Amino acid sequence: MKRTIIAGNWKMNKTVAETKALIKEIAPLVAGAKCEVVVCVPFTDLDIARKALRGTDIKLGAQNVHWAPKGAFTGEISAEMLKELKVEYVIIGHSERRQYFGETDETVNKRAKAALEYSLKPIICVGETLAEREAGKTAEVVIRQINGAFAGIEKLSLKRIVVAYEPVWAIGTGKTATPQDANETIAVIRKALRKLYGKTASRALRIQYGGSMNPKNATELMAMPEIDGGLIGGASLKAEDFAKVVNY
Ligand code: PEP
Repeated sequence: MKRTIIAGNWKMNKTVAETKALIKEIAPLVAGAKCEVVVCVPFTDLDIARKALRGTDIKLGAQNVHWAPKGAFTGEISAEMLKELKVEYVIIGHSERRQYFGETDETVNKRAKAALEYSLKPIICVGETLAEREAGKTAEVVIRQINGAFAGIEKLSLKRIVVAYEPVWAIGTGKTATPQDANETIAVIRKALRKLYGKTASRALRIQYGGSMNPKNATELMAMPEIDGGLIGGASLKAEDFAKVVNY
């Protein structure tokens, strides 16, 4: 049985002091959760988060990683730097990075490989825009993103990767994909992975849904057979809401 995984994506929110306080609030509310719980905090909060998470089962995640081991890449952070801070998961290819920071399928692939090299666990994000959905291109887009992200990644690494299906039009908008729609697109993603890695490996890989997931819709979404977890933005910033999603 795979264990479901709920990860909070804090994006560019929370100072060091706020991070410490929020983790203190979250920890008792999610203790003993049936799913794996992750918080992906800003780079500047990783160290305090690492300390605040000691003695809990909550895993630490970052929100990006550069592909080079070191060098002249102003503003970037390497996998080794994350590893030093005991980071376990790292979000790669979030739609906000694709939209505002020129992230492409190729750079997603390079980042994922660098993360794997340092034993980090990538959470690879894919998802279509509203225009792509309306043009009937959802399947085509997610298949292209999956093929791009996984190029040259060997089957052995698959067990350390999580995929997040996040329709761009559902992120931070309050609009959620219906559980059936999310399930259907995740099935398309799994089929693409099956073509690359075979049935057993693609079945074992966890695929999250993300996009305005909250305490009200989490149970319904998590009941879908293809959905193995959630990537939670807005609702991860309030301890009670995040805990309700975790305890779906
Ligand atoms: C996200 O940013 O990954 C996300 C799913 O955001 P929200 O839950 O706010 O839609």
